[in-house]
This record gives sequence, C-alpha cells and structure tokens, in this order.
Amino acid sequence: MLSISKRSLNLGTENAFIVLAEVNKLIKEGKNVISFCIGQPDFSTPLNIQKAAKIAIEDGKHGYTPSAGISELRSAVVNYFISSRKINFSENDIVIAAGAKPFIGYTIKSVTDYGLGDEVIYPVPGFPIYESQIQANGAIPVPIFLREENNFSINPRELLKKISSKTKLLILNSPQNPTGGIIPKKDMDEIVDILKNYPDIWIYSDEIYSRLIYDGEFVSVASYPEMKERTIISDGCSKTYAMTGWRLGFCANRLLAPFLTNWVTNTESCASHIIQWAGVEALNGPQHEAQSMRNIFLKRRNLIVKLLNEVPGVNCKSPGGAFYVWPNVTEACELIGCKDSEELRKLLLNEANIAVLADIHFGQKVKESGHYLRLSYAASEEEIKLGISRILNFIKKRANLN
Ligand code: PLP
Repeated sequence: MLSISKRSLNLGTENAFIVLAEVNKLIKEGKNVISFCIGQPDFSTPLNIQKAAKIAIEDGKHGYTPSAGISELRSAVVNYFISSRKINFSENDIVIAAGAKPFIGYTIKSVTDYGLGDEVIYPVPGFPIYESQIQANGAIPVPIFLREENNFSINPRELLKKISSKTKLLILNSPQNPTGGIIPKKDMDEIVDILKNYPDIWIYSDEIYSRLIYDGEFVSVASYPEMKERTIISDGCSKTYAMTGWRLGFCANRLLAPFLTNWVTNTESCASHIIQWAGVEALNGPQHEAQSMRNIFLKRRNLIVKLLNEVPGVNCKSPGGAFYVWPNVTEACELIGCKDSEELRKLLLNEANIAVLADIHFGQKVKESGHYLRLSYAASEEEIKLGISRILNFIKKRANLN
C-alpha cells in the first residue's frame, strides 16, 4: 500500500490559511464579512519597486542567480543592516531566499540533527511555523510562554529554566506575531547576560517586523557584539514594503551562510532573479512610502486599541510593533457563555460577520493565562470602526447589556 510519511502526516500549518478559506467561502456566499485575519499589509507595493521589476524583465534578468543571491542585493542588505541596526556584515554573510519563512526551516536543519533529542526554544503564542519545522526536522520543541503581565516579552528567568544541555537553538521574534509585543532593551540585556553563559546555543532572530515599531526602540540581539557570531538575523521585504506575494527575504550570519546557501541550492535554487532586482530598489531606493505605511499602521493601532477597550469584557494592551493586537477576551467569553476564544471566534464569524483568529492558532494555550484573539489591523479605519462596532453590539446583545 502506498503510504504517507509520519513527518508529512504530522506536519503543522498556519491555521490562518484554514480560517481564511472559511472566510472566503462565506464571502462567496454573499456574506459581508470584515476580516481581521490577514497577516499582510493592505497596501500596494510602492511604484518604484514595481517599476524595477518591470525593468528587470525587459533587461533580460531571466536566468538563475547564485543561490546566495545577486551581489547587488546582498550588498544592499549589508548597507541596510548598517543603517537600521549598526551591525557590520560582509556580502558573503548574506543569503537571499523566497521570503523570510524558508530560513526558519533551513536554520533548524543546519543546527539540529534528526532524532537526537536536540532542543529548540521558541515563543508561544508564536508564529506556528517555528513549531512545525522543529517537529518536522526531528528536534524537540521547548515552548517559552509570553505573558500579558510581561507585555508579551520573553521573561529572562523563564528562559533560564528552559535551557538544558540539549538546547541547540533559541528563536526570538520581536516585534512579535501574534501579540505585537516587543522585547525591550532591559529584557534583551538580561537575555544576553544569560546566553553569555551558554556559548553553544544558536539564536534565530526573526526580525521581519523590525521596521514596524511604534513604542520604544527596536533592539536586535545581534547588535550585542558577543551575540553577533551566533545570531542568524532574518528579515525581508514582505511586511516593510508590502511585498508579501513577491517572496523576498534575507538573512545574515557568517558561519551559517554557506550552509543556508546550500539549503537554498537544494530546494529553491535561488530566489526569483526579477524579484531580487525589485529588492535592490526596495532597499536602496526612497524609503518615504515604507515610512508612511508604518505611520498609517500606528494610527490604526491607536484606533483599534481604543475601540476594543470599549467592548464589554475585552482588555487590550497597546502593542509596541507589527500590525496585530492580542486582546484578552476572558471576561467577554464569561459574559456570553463561551468556553474559550475559539468558540467566540466561530460565533463572531458566523453571527457577526467578523473574521479573527483565536489563541489556539498560535500554539498551545499558555498555562494560567486567559483567552485571547488576534486581530490584524491591516485594514482601513472604516473597516476597523465598523468591525469593532459589530463585535461590541454582538457582545452587548448576547450578554443582555442593552
Ligand atoms: N516570521 C514571522 C513572525 C511572520 O509573521 C511571517 C509572516 O507572517 C514570516 C516570518 C514570513 O515572512 P515572509 O512572508 O517574508 O516569508
């Protein structure tokens, strides 16, 4: 009998895509659904970047490139890391791929071995691909929980408890998906102090939201000189330049670059030649559109946080970055008799035409913590106002609060 590997059968996914299919089905049926599910900017890619891609096509940039990427883009990434983080790399330390996502799996494959009990510490709630790639590559997932009382930063004391002699890799993500939390400098200082005692642990620093920061400063763990050698910084064009569908990401680490490059050779061969030239323009060209998208997100963040806090039973902290809010809906669930936020999510979708994601879509439930939803505010101010008023009216009606 033909069989499917356990690895494939057990492979996790991004549940956002499953909810998205549900939402699209309802929209097709004629329902007026407002969606706060999607993890991508709702803007078009800036015109100068679009133009660069057209020129690349016309100029015949049609062939394979080196697996690590074209020199022009790698050199633009070097300059980007200097200007954004004051970190110096050489072109050979940089690898380009089709999005930032592939580097998660490539890194885990490069620093852990299958079935040997190698442990990877990763944030929960968190981007679901961390856990699925850890598992698919035969390593042991060790979640570190992000809590509201800590503004969804990593608690250094909790980190220390999770480290063992088997720990090979720590995944950090700031600003964070799904909470929008950031790791402030004082926490990062403590994290680095701990890591100094464990020189054999690699760090994968997922910095895809680094340009979407609203409160405080963005701190890269690689900017601490003693951490640079063992940190893989991953960033890309998706979120900063509204280029999610173009697929362009980059990462930096001197020791690992040749191995990550070899994974690219073994999988995608190279990122699209045309898109790499668009990336050169994105990084080297004018930055005002990226800045103005960030400013619009900031206005929307303030609006959605204010409106959510007016909904009975909803408590929403103001997140420092990315384009997500992570409201605590524990009281709202109690008010309307829902057992958890997944039940609330389904009710909101089917009875109020509001699409959101629930905490269970981002890993196991955090112990001794409440129920949460994730809303992406990559939506217009009108949609935010209308959408949150629907949630407010739904909860009031269900809880007989009128
Ligand atoms: N890392 C995090 C935390 C994300 O939220 C995402 C996308 O949602 C990615 C990586 C993937 O980015 P890309 O679209 O560049 O592959």
